[in-house]
Amino acid sequence: MTMTESAATAVRFAPGRLFIGGEWREASGGERMDVIAPATGEKLTDVAKGTTADVDAAVAAARAAFDSGVWSGLSSRERARILQRAYELMRERTEELAQAESADVGKPIMLARFVDANNAAELFEYYASLGHHLDGTVRETSGPTHAYVKKEPLGVVAAITPFNFPLILSASKLAPALIAGNTVVHKPASDTPLSALIMADILQQAGVPDGVVNVVTGPGATLGDHLVSHPGVDKIAFTGSTEVGAHAAALAAQNLKPFTAELGGNAANILFADADLDAAVHTVISAFVFNAGQFCMAGPRLLVERPIYETVLGILGQAVPQVPFGDITAPDTVIGPLASANQLEKVSAMVDRAIAAGARVVTGGEKADLGGGYFYRPTVLADLPADAEAVVDEVFGPVLTVQPFDSEEEAIELANSTKYGLASGIQTSDLAKAHRVAARLQAGITWVNGWALMDASVPFGGVKASGWGREGGPEAMESYQRSHSIVFNLAPGAAQ
Ligand code: NAD
Repeated sequence: MTMTESAATAVRFAPGRLFIGGEWREASGGERMDVIAPATGEKLTDVAKGTTADVDAAVAAARAAFDSGVWSGLSSRERARILQRAYELMRERTEELAQAESADVGKPIMLARFVDANNAAELFEYYASLGHHLDGTVRETSGPTHAYVKKEPLGVVAAITPFNFPLILSASKLAPALIAGNTVVHKPASDTPLSALIMADILQQAGVPDGVVNVVTGPGATLGDHLVSHPGVDKIAFTGSTEVGAHAAALAAQNLKPFTAELGGNAANILFADADLDAAVHTVISAFVFNAGQFCMAGPRLLVERPIYETVLGILGQAVPQVPFGDITAPDTVIGPLASANQLEKVSAMVDRAIAAGARVVTGGEKADLGGGYFYRPTVLADLPADAEAVVDEVFGPVLTVQPFDSEEEAIELANSTKYGLASGIQTSDLAKAHRVAARLQAGITWVNGWALMDASVPFGGVKASGWGREGGPEAMESYQRSHSIVFNLAPGAAQ
């Protein structure tokens, strides 16, 4: 399929309007905003440019749906059946979801199919399965009382998602929020809104009642600020940058609204000299080129044990340029463009500053002129000081910095030496060492002899500036339910 056909497919699939109270509607101001295809730099389609009045309408619809009990009043098993149906529909509509995600974000079509569309569907399947086990607990008490703890939904959840994995990160919020009985107002990233609209259509088709899921597309800061500080919202689930997350958390705190924060990352991948080098190099490359490096849990910092440092740089210099790069519609392409012109300029400027500061360019280090798209060549930089900007900050592009280390202790220290703490990785054949080092890494997840080994059942999330709260697994339910203790006096009339 050519890019033009792919773009046309996405335009046809995505409704391009706001979804409020079960209806597709234009923005109250009547404006629309362009969606750009990162692979060409050209307009892909346009969507409604929502306003704060539209946010108000969406919150009101979500509030009314919650209060009516049309969703929260169902048993979790009934909700599970509807979410299971959504899973099946996502499977049936995989190609549609994948084409839209690929065109909108600039993802190679194979990744959009087998990672984005697939993992998003699995999240619905997984949380549907949890719906059969959302039990409360009975507590043993010391007095003449009978106490039990019920799990209740929170109410209206504001879900705010970033540009890089629109489908998966929408599903990782909506599926647990919905199975718990909440209603949702979803604000997808302004650059990549299409798959959220298709997902809303699927949920309606699956039988989710009107008003339970609402989607407002539009400018991030205006809509985001309004949504986060809205008194009608009971909880905010935010995924995005550390800077915007901190700003939004401060707004939410003014109304004492619970807030989960899935923020930036800058993971270290520690490569010990005893690792299986062929397998490890494959892992190292996929960890930094996956999604063109726009992955919060990417592995952009490679720490290599000194005896193999130059060998590894030599292998990377040969292997990285061989990774299929460019045409996102080609079945073997691994690396596509960055998702926006803004992201391309940010990555390019950071690498330029690193080179000016003395970095050795092992490979890449420049934009690629491929048909007007936002392409940046996969880049490996060596010999940067440990406090260089490209090492300590989140680059969020296909850029790997490589640093040598001399001891296990030094590797741990370097790995933990950024403000972030989302993911980490260890490549070694010594499993005792892997356990020892993993226990000391400041991160929500550590992969051993692999990278991005994700599953709907495995939680992820941050420590330090990477945020708080967890998505995935049963742990995510803690963000969307509260405990309600109910205690009976079994000796009424007796002295209390
Ligand atoms: P961003 O912070 O710019 O935007 C995230 C979302 O917030 C978008 O929907 C945006 O429109 C919205 N937003 C913007 N201003 C807002 C405001 N004032 N109030 C409320 N919401 C507002 O992030 P991005 O550039 O879309 O995404 C990239 C970042 O997200 C990276 O830092 C990446 O590491 C992080 N991320 C984290 C995870 C995770 O699970 N921890 C996953 C993916 C991405």
